[in-house]
Amino acid sequence: MSKSIITKNKKALIISFYIIFLAALVLLTSCASVSSQNSLPEGFVYVTDVIPTAQLEIRYCSDDNFVGTVIDGYEAPKAILTVEAAQALKKAADELYEKGYYIKIFDAYRSQRAVDHFVRWSKDLDDTKMKEKYYPDLDKSVLFEQGYIAAKSSHSRGSTVDLTLVEIATGEEVDMGSGFDFFGEISNHGTDLITPEQEKNRNILRDAMVNAGFEVYPEEWWHYTLKDEPYPDTYFDFPVR
Ligand SMILES: [Zn+2]
Repeated sequence: MSKSIITKNKKALIISFYIIFLAALVLLTSCASVSSQNSLPEGFVYVTDVIPTAQLEIRYCSDDNFVGTVIDGYEAPKAILTVEAAQALKKAADELYEKGYYIKIFDAYRSQRAVDHFVRWSKDLDDTKMKEKYYPDLDKSVLFEQGYIAAKSSHSRGSTVDLTLVEIATGEEVDMGSGFDFFGEISNHGTDLITPEQEKNRNILRDAMVNAGFEVYPEEWWHYTLKDEPYPDTYFDFPVR
């Protein structure tokens, strides 16, 4: 009798230990995911934590970019910005939502090692895998000297974002007249190579971004930098993950 009670107690003890072990495991796993969320340097946030409706198409974390391969420093297709830039972007996104648009982000914070990858690629003149889509009218040798590729990018300062609009009603990307990262005059603001409708679309994005405190980049309709950026002289190198 007493022996069987001891056995029962032993069993109960083993089961409780097992439960505690499982609970600890669950806790450990969630801690790991929390700590990876918190692994961003202070002052940075994931854009979708601030703007849940933002769509992401992080091209440098895929083969669909001007290099044609995943770029160094992109370990996950996520958009990271400084807190200030994300909050300003939320203002723009809210205004655009009222007008019937989601924002779609192609790139946000970009590590210095990614920029170094671009520079390395630009010097390898034989690698023209993505020429047809991204720079059909340019010789690869001029990309660096014409400023399409540079040794430093404002994206590494964490307050620059590349984006477009998606019409909420249709779920379709809005026609901006040229694709993201198309190297050529057609991507400039004010170009006469696009239709009035395409220009109107670019201006919807531009007006919302300017109202929210971003600066226009004349050469690229998709590229905006926060005017009062918090780290104007710092080029960060932590990976996107
Ligand atoms: Zn950009």
